Amino acid sequence: MPPPQRLPCRLHHKAKRLSQHHHPLHHDIQGEKTVQTAYTLDVLRKQIDTLAADGSTIGLVPTMGALHDGHLTLVRRAREMCDHVAVSIFVNPTQFGPGEDLDAYPRQLEADAAMLEAEGTAVLWAPNVAAMYPDGFVTNISVTGVSEGLCGADRPGHFDGVATVVCKLFNQVRPTHAFFGEKDFQQLAVIRAMARDLDLTHPHARSIIGVPTVREADGLAMSSRNRYLSDKDRGAAVTLPRAMKAAITRIEAGDDVAATLMAFQDELIGAGFTSVDYATLADSASLAPLAALEGRTARLIVAARIGGTRLIDNMPVS
Ligand code: AMP
Repeated sequence: MPPPQRLPCRLHHKAKRLSQHHHPLHHDIQGEKTVQTAYTLDVLRKQIDTLAADGSTIGLVPTMGALHDGHLTLVRRAREMCDHVAVSIFVNPTQFGPGEDLDAYPRQLEADAAMLEAEGTAVLWAPNVAAMYPDGFVTNISVTGVSEGLCGADRPGHFDGVATVVCKLFNQVRPTHAFFGEKDFQQLAVIRAMARDLDLTHPHARSIIGVPTVREADGLAMSSRNRYLSDKDRGAAVTLPRAMKAAITRIEAGDDVAATLMAFQDELIGAGFTSVDYATLADSASLAPLAALEGRTARLIVAARIGGTRLIDNMPVS
């Protein structure tokens, strides 16, 4: 239920933040729920039209749910930059390959909604598969170039699934800004390319905000998939960010890139990782592999498996 009288958005948010600050039980006391959940496109459109009617900005945070502090950091950034925040939760089947973890992927809509409520999210867009892909759905968006190496090579069709669903989300929500994590660095590059090429003017490429990776205290990048890890594997997983940092220090000091990456992979396997899908020094913009740094802005991008779980991470190299 929307509050009976809305202050102008910025004032309303400011007032809400202040009152939350002074009284953490604000929502309970008011009996007011700020997050409105939409399960159908018609309902979503009405909610968004109401929020946007006065020219308010809307920030979209697309997710697959099982929210953690990484997702919530995107939501907070969106709240800082926009009048209203819409979060989508949709476990998109088309971006999972055969044998991947689609069925096992954690789903916890109620708990997620409570977290989003606490963050002042205005709209939670939670379509089911039939709402997103009605019978007869035949369209596919395929971004070439940046999508081709790295995860694109290991997971055929993955970025087509991502691009298609994100394009739909943009058209459904029509946000003024959209927020994505650098944790999925290649995904961010694919979405920027798509937004630019398809003239997705709301948001256009500059309105796509990349948010730095949020990490656990020991450095492991937060991920919904970390919950698959056994205690032993969780302990070993910290080798990934640690060894990445050490490899970056060596590359920045001028050590041979190929030899450094080979030693890096050996270190992961020695720590208990079962395989390394790739460990690549890539140009930050094109994502093309680099044999040497030579003054470029680069990224160390890694995908590695431990106990059946595929972890990805990336860090800047300069
Ligand atoms: P997912 O639910 O895994 O599809 O992620 C939804 C969004 O949250 C994507 O833009 C991710 O890049 C972002 N994200 C996931 N984990 C993190 C993290 N640890 N730090 C920052 N952003 C993240």
